[in-house]
Amino acid sequence: MADQHCPGFESNKTLSEVKVKCPECGKEWAVFSDELEKKVKCSACKASFDAKTCKVN
Ligand SMILES: [Zn+2]
Repeated sequence: MADQHCPGFESNKTLSEVKVKCPECGKEWAVFSDELEKKVKCSACKASFDAKTCKVN
């Protein structure tokens, strides 16, 4: 498996981590703040959902 390293990633230092909770199975984990703009996939149950609708405060 090739190591897919994005060369632009190192300069992107403004990201913070946001905690989300899977609406399907209740698993909680952290995503980067830019992932709130897109769908994320739960590693536990494989459900995909909008990260910003499932933020945990
Ligand atoms: Zn899940």
